[in-house]
Amino acid sequence: MAEASSPQRPRPAVTDLTRPFWEAAREGRLVIQRCHACGYYNHPPRQECDKCLSTDLAFEPVSGLGRVYSYTVMYQKNVQGFEDHLPYLTALVELDEQPMLLLVTNLPGAVADDSLLDARVRVEFERVDDEITLPQFVTVGEGPK
Ligand code: ZN
Repeated sequence: MAEASSPQRPRPAVTDLTRPFWEAAREGRLVIQRCHACGYYNHPPRQECDKCLSTDLAFEPVSGLGRVYSYTVMYQKNVQGFEDHLPYLTALVELDEQPMLLLVTNLPGAVADDSLLDARVRVEFERVDDEITLPQFVTVGEGPK
């Protein structure tokens, strides 16, 4: 993947809670926090499971496969750091592991049209700098899974 072209582009804030996600992404792996009590995936990571409130949570690898749940196209310059990227896509990808397990992506290379909804996607990793690598998603097919 291409390096980020805008030095002002906002960077994710890495916290103790999210650090395992970013460390895995830097190694080219997609991991999602999962509850050991009930098996539910929580994303973004939480202090307690969304489903059962257990605190027995750990990050586990996932397939990196899913579908485009929704997307929008940004034409306005009201998000600082993205002015040079207009128009750009922002999408929600639903991972195969669980209904409504949604990740935000820009779908690099995708064209906004009706075939994009439900399109099959797979994760790719976009290195931003030594600390941050962004999991992004690219289309691998069209239509419902
Ligand atoms: Zn749980």
